[in-house]
Amino acid sequence: SDIIFGRCKEMIQETATASAGLRTIVHFIDGQDTAPQSDNYFDSVDPSNGAVYARVASGNANDVGAAVASAKAASASWAAMRPLDRGVIIQKIGAALLEHIVALAEIETREMGMPSQASPGIIAASAEYFTYYGGLAPSVHGDTIPVDESTLAYTLYEPYGVVGIITPWNAPLNQAARSVAPALAAGNTVVVKPSEYTSRATVELARIAHEAGLPAGVLNVVTGTGPDVGEPLVRHPDIEKIAFTGSVRTGARIGAIAGERIVPVTLELGGKSPDIVFADAKLDVAVRQVLFGFIANSGQICTSGTRVIVERSILARFSEMLADAARSIPIGVDKPFPCLGPIANRMQYEKVLGYMDSARREGARLITGGGPARGVGLDGGFYVEPTIYTDVRPDMKIVREEVFGPVGVLIPFDTEEEAISIANDTDYGLAAGIWSQDASRVHRVAAQLQAGTVYINAWHAQTVEVPMGGYKRSGVGRERGIGAIKAYMQTKNITQKLI
Ligand code: NAD
Repeated sequence: SDIIFGRCKEMIQETATASAGLRTIVHFIDGQDTAPQSDNYFDSVDPSNGAVYARVASGNANDVGAAVASAKAASASWAAMRPLDRGVIIQKIGAALLEHIVALAEIETREMGMPSQASPGIIAASAEYFTYYGGLAPSVHGDTIPVDESTLAYTLYEPYGVVGIITPWNAPLNQAARSVAPALAAGNTVVVKPSEYTSRATVELARIAHEAGLPAGVLNVVTGTGPDVGEPLVRHPDIEKIAFTGSVRTGARIGAIAGERIVPVTLELGGKSPDIVFADAKLDVAVRQVLFGFIANSGQICTSGTRVIVERSILARFSEMLADAARSIPIGVDKPFPCLGPIANRMQYEKVLGYMDSARREGARLITGGGPARGVGLDGGFYVEPTIYTDVRPDMKIVREEVFGPVGVLIPFDTEEEAISIANDTDYGLAAGIWSQDASRVHRVAAQLQAGTVYINAWHAQTVEVPMGGYKRSGVGRERGIGAIKAYMQTKNITQKLI
């Protein structure tokens, strides 16, 4: 990483100079910065101080039309390229992201409030999607299928054509990379609509990709709101596959439109993930990791482990250790890591405070935190304290709904069966965790948890190689891993009679 940081000195300089004035962020269409056809812009705010950070192009259906047309025009030659050559270009995008790691990390920090010492790691993880799927591109092949001696049957995998990708604001580059890399590797061209709260990282991704050798039109970005850009993208007749990451509410709407249009859709949605701590867990490790599980990125991770289910015999001790650990976390975007950055935008900040109010009203007992964080350097920023509640009932909002803030609830259990039943008592099913030293129990419990990912003695430990996705209302389909590339491909069967 020293080499990477060394190479980026020029970029730091560039970033420092540019941040003195207000930036304008426009669409990236057909290999070029493209102003919005309406000439409308909206402000983007730095959540660490509430100041306007940039003006962002407010796109509309016409901009979507231009981006889709560009992607469609680029589609045939990108799809026809030898997969090995396509993969080399995609891997170059990964390398180029690392070359720009300092500047991109700075964007994530200013745009969504990711702690400045954490954001380089997220950029490196984003680059891995391109390294991994670029490498995988030439290895996807069909099968020959035995039928009988007079039949030759085989399958071919083909790209869909133009893929529409819609992303949220909680780790903008990572969310875009996770869908863009496999979509491109499969031979599709892409139009991305990033969250209106965090547009810049994705526009930079497209520009960097183009500079790294991705042909014009293969990756386009249109900025703007969900109704103005997202929905026209999903409805566009030339979009043949949709990948959406975001809330259940929006996912349901997009799924309904995709259903009417009969186009496939991957939905990566929310969670209310359980983290079960048995009495024989290694408590010192478990306490830090359980806390990290629901406060990392200020709790704004879909897989946050927000329902901490603790064996009653250790509840008092665990709760004290967890609260002490929570109070020891420095608050401030530029503090030494691990620290807590702000909530990414005012809307979400108010939503998190609203959940704290509802917990109070419904009678949950506050162990620590419970409100806005104040202190030197936090003025104007959307900071909240790491917060833990206990004495909760299963019907409370703080137990059932995704807060998307650094808020956890402690729930006691007496038996393994009860722990599993509490863990599964949710509409969601994205992640779950088990802390125990009993090698048989952890796998027995893992098999019974209704979640797309189960961590054992770990949390937030996923990497690009392993699939992620949701059971129940947490989503449809899987991203990451070998399987994800097939989600961006049609399967064609060819059957011949050997006459
Ligand atoms: P959101 O659903 O409000 O917005 C997500 C994206 O959809 C944004 O780009 C938004 O502009 C767009 N959008 C909104 N309305 C639309 C419409 N009618 N048509 C098309 N697009 C529309 O979600 P958010 O608040 O940005 O993100 C937070 C949510 O994302 C949380 O629920 C979180 O759990 C989830 N999330 C899931 C994952 C995962 O991998 N499962 C990862 C990160 C975040």
